[in-house]
Amino acid sequence: MTEDRVVTFEMIMEKILTSDKQYDNSKIISAYHFAAKAHEGQFRSSKQPYIIHPLAVADLLLDLGMDTDTICAALLHDVVEDTPVTDEQLRELFGKSVAALVDGVTKLTQIPVFKQDQKKAENILKMLLAMDKDVRVMIIKLCDRMHNMRTLQFRPEHKQQQTAYETMNVYAPIAGRLGMKQIQEELETLSLYYLDPFGYSEIIKQFDNTREERQQFIEAIKSRIAEALKAAPLQQAPEIQGRPKSIYGMYKKLYKEHRNFDQIYDKYAVRVIVDTVPECYMVLGVIHQIYKPLMERIKDWIARPKENGYQSLHTTVLGREGIPFEVQIRTREMHKTAEYGIAAHWKYKQGVEKDNMEEQLAWVRKILEAQKTSDDPDEILTTLKIDLSPDNIMVMTPKGDAITLPLEATPIDFAYKIHTEIGHKMIFARVEGRMVPLDYKLRTGDVCEIVTSKDASKGPNRAWMNIAKTSEAKAKIRAWFKKENRQDNIIAGKTMLEKEFRKSRIRIPEEEMDNFFSFDMKRHNCNTLEDFYASIGYGGVSLNKLMPRLKERYLKLYCQEEESTKEEPLIRPVERTTTSQIILDEIRDCEHKLAKCCNPLYGDEIVGFVTRGHGLSIHRTDCINYRAVLGRNQPEELERWLAVQWTGNNSEKMRTDLDILAYDRVGLMFDISAIMKEAGISMEVPQSHKVRGNKILLVISLQVINKNQLTGILQRLEKVRSIISVERSSTAYHREKEKRGE
Ligand code: MN
Repeated sequence: MTEDRVVTFEMIMEKILTSDKQYDNSKIISAYHFAAKAHEGQFRSSKQPYIIHPLAVADLLLDLGMDTDTICAALLHDVVEDTPVTDEQLRELFGKSVAALVDGVTKLTQIPVFKQDQKKAENILKMLLAMDKDVRVMIIKLCDRMHNMRTLQFRPEHKQQQTAYETMNVYAPIAGRLGMKQIQEELETLSLYYLDPFGYSEIIKQFDNTREERQQFIEAIKSRIAEALKAAPLQQAPEIQGRPKSIYGMYKKLYKEHRNFDQIYDKYAVRVIVDTVPECYMVLGVIHQIYKPLMERIKDWIARPKENGYQSLHTTVLGREGIPFEVQIRTREMHKTAEYGIAAHWKYKQGVEKDNMEEQLAWVRKILEAQKTSDDPDEILTTLKIDLSPDNIMVMTPKGDAITLPLEATPIDFAYKIHTEIGHKMIFARVEGRMVPLDYKLRTGDVCEIVTSKDASKGPNRAWMNIAKTSEAKAKIRAWFKKENRQDNIIAGKTMLEKEFRKSRIRIPEEEMDNFFSFDMKRHNCNTLEDFYASIGYGGVSLNKLMPRLKERYLKLYCQEEESTKEEPLIRPVERTTTSQIILDEIRDCEHKLAKCCNPLYGDEIVGFVTRGHGLSIHRTDCINYRAVLGRNQPEELERWLAVQWTGNNSEKMRTDLDILAYDRVGLMFDISAIMKEAGISMEVPQSHKVRGNKILLVISLQVINKNQLTGILQRLEKVRSIISVERSSTAYHREKEKRGE
């Protein structure tokens, strides 16, 4: 495990002063003092003062060579989330750019990605959006996560699992996609330690057992290569490194590809770094003269860089006694990109070279674009997994152009990657001269030929959507159906729906269709019934996802007329009020969930927000998010907020959080839990934060049935000795407190 050392501000300043980059020292110093003051009295799970965390994050970012604003944002990255400091204050003190970075990181922090798949896809997309805006936000977040992973042993076990899972499945792949190899490998290895401690220790054991043998082998190779290169006309002596192999890389090969330890070629690897591209190829030639290459394992990432900008020549050759090993050859310039990825823009270049970076981030935009045509979370998630995977294959066109594709790509993906029209007009594909099925899994080195139709009206097949692996191909196919054939789509969609209806014995009079689908139409942004059928036809709306909901609605509306009064939904819309711009909708019942930002309780005044794809989200009318919308007063925005009210009676418990500000004293917790016990209310173990003076802020979670019950509790709590205030938690709380100057 990586030992985490404590970083002090003196160490940071030392680095800044000895750096060859220009930093705004006084801005960084004041960011530090501001953060230190804001976090004063707060502690990490390790019992260390909180400020060591932002310092460690800033230190990692300094090593990446990031700029002044990024360093300031790193120091301040948790103040908005964890202290009463506001966004506006940061903007005033440190400028728009720093405030925007902190805001971006705070938002990323609030996106959990270990939850159910539906949310996961949506949340990963949110992350990509943040990255698309300013990639520095993600770079800060990755360093934040790195320090949290390094200190994960202090967290409770379930937190360790969650964080490690999220790191392994989301943050490490993103780091890989940004080309930040070192960060990716450390994140993976740290996650592995928590996710599979047994596998981890096995690898370490094997590593240790073979360390000496490995070192001897590598040293022998290095000196033989150096010897052979002496005669080569290189500008200066090449740098030859034995490449350290990541523990997780090893784990993947051993446990996922079921190789045994002796079979892993990359166990032995060396890297040769030279000055120019021609020198790279020259070195490759020399190496193939002294070692026999394994032909199928040469990769030219120089001629065809990976999408994250990585460039290198890789060849696997046979060494002494027939042991294979890999040689990587690259220029110094390429080496910087290989180690630092997107961060190399800050580390090695004056300011930010926009063009090149745009190219390196083009994949983010591509994924975001492609998702616009689909709202099936399962599909989004699978394509995201494929698109995020840093493993690529390279397939050749008959003319010899190499096309980079994700693992498991099919001829359909290949065709669409070459050109949209080639995809649309494809009839069949040949690999190495033989016809292959369209779901054939392409491999590196395959020469693939796409046979197209001369018929100008030829288009893709609907079934291709399920065969293609890349979001790019899927989006293009869907777009074709959407555009080219509206009338066909309407018929196809209507037929598909009718078939499903017959299967489920759903019969709805034609004139009631509009009403019956109104919720789903709105959800999928369809204005007319025809639009809705067309969306089903081209695959923008997934019938598999739609049917269960339709069945349920049908049963409620048409089969239980008499009972429906008894089973009234918990929430129903109310009449439009003239004072607000809230628009009344026809929704009788629909999926809803209680918003986490304000945790509404039965009895609270509420309002509903029409989410894209997850029904209504219910907020309190005094929720800060809703207030902000009212404040902006923009009709398009307001349209999505519906006036709703509670109906019937609630018997379910709902979660609510309380912020209790008190002077800390012995027995305080005992008094609080006595009140809960008396009222028969269950309470989660509270979190507590020290605040200024002898004060303590307790955050407790309760399960209550309605607002009245809560009001009773609040009154009793307020009478407890040393409690200063009790309030329902909300994002508004800290801001209001700040305003009152507490
Ligand atoms: Mn943090």
